[in-house]
Amino acid sequence: MEKIIDEEISKGSIMSTSAVLENITKEATVWRHKIHRHPELAYEELRTSDLIAEVLTDAGIEVFRGIGGTGVIGVLRKGEGKKSIGLRADMDALPLSEESELPYKSVIDKKMHACGHDGHTAMLLGAAKLLSASEDFDGTVYFVFQPAEEHLDGAYRMIDDGLFDIAPADAFFGMHNWPRLPIGHFAIRKGPMLASFDKFDIVVEGVGGHGALPHEGIDPIVIASQVVTSLQTIVSRAINPIDSAVVSVTHINSGEPSYNVIPGRAAMKGAVRSLNSESRKKIRSKIYQLVKGVVDGFGGTFKIDYEEVCPVLMNNPGDVSHAVAAAIDVVGADRVNDQIDPVMGSEDFAAILESKPGAYIFIGNGDGVGSCMVHNPKYDFNDTAIPYGVRFWNQLVKNYLLGS
Ligand SMILES: [Zn+2]
Ligand SMILES: [Zn+2]
Repeated sequence: MEKIIDEEISKGSIMSTSAVLENITKEATVWRHKIHRHPELAYEELRTSDLIAEVLTDAGIEVFRGIGGTGVIGVLRKGEGKKSIGLRADMDALPLSEESELPYKSVIDKKMHACGHDGHTAMLLGAAKLLSASEDFDGTVYFVFQPAEEHLDGAYRMIDDGLFDIAPADAFFGMHNWPRLPIGHFAIRKGPMLASFDKFDIVVEGVGGHGALPHEGIDPIVIASQVVTSLQTIVSRAINPIDSAVVSVTHINSGEPSYNVIPGRAAMKGAVRSLNSESRKKIRSKIYQLVKGVVDGFGGTFKIDYEEVCPVLMNNPGDVSHAVAAAIDVVGADRVNDQIDPVMGSEDFAAILESKPGAYIFIGNGDGVGSCMVHNPKYDFNDTAIPYGVRFWNQLVKNYLLGS
């Protein structure tokens, strides 16, 4: 069987897929639809991890479960080679109600796979099955199935729970579908690819009173309004224009609906994204500085809770080259963009890349079914991407472990 796979995989075109790859694609599509019908939110991915463990075990792959809650790690060793590679997929769904007529539509209200993690899991399982049947690599592959990516902390939980002890890979690679990229295309960049994500809560305390007597109070709504305006100067006045960052106040709450009451406090929520860890630090300190300046000026008091959630996702240049070479082997150079613009979204695979070398790549989800952006109630992972993803992982492992 290996010979058939290898002959077929070595052909450049997906049109000449082997019977083996075709069968694996069919199986992976069935797994994808099963996972899609029963979406599970962060740390609930028990049914999904059961399916993963079953497929890996059937393929003769050693399985570790319950890593970081519901995480699963598969370990596949071949030969005597000392090199190793880690491949990561995410498993969790989103708290959205699916709007579709698909036969495998989510059967659970307010839960759906609107980010394609069902497809990521299915593609990595397909690659695990393909690689377990192959004899032409030498080394160790770690298949990492991570919970709670949407919470941006599943990777941290797996790391805290021994990910790097069970899977001491030389490098880790992650893959996410991208709806604006055609099927059979890949996109990546060296350095920062996704933004850091931090969130803050600011509470301003003033002095409430009668709306007709503002001079007797300290109006927190006026203070909050000035705070929002001041925070909007951080990116434009304090960050290098060549760098990219976002500061957004996404929620303000103060008082009860009324025409004649000045409330006593105002609360705000917001988020910060950046592509540079120095800018990230600077934005945090500017938020403190500006809030203090504005609130002190009005005679109010304040409290800031600031949480650094997820770092910048930094692709290691050498590992980007591995990923690009594997993608070119599968789909040809004209379908691989190795200089994509960074995206201001965030991804907790960044936490793994803080500790280990590696890279993260986009796989096209096409412009047909599911072409709307992820996190949309009409989104669906595109099954025609599955064989490309399976072949990419397979090729990456073989190239990487051979050292080519
Ligand atoms: Zn998502
Ligand atoms: Zn996602």
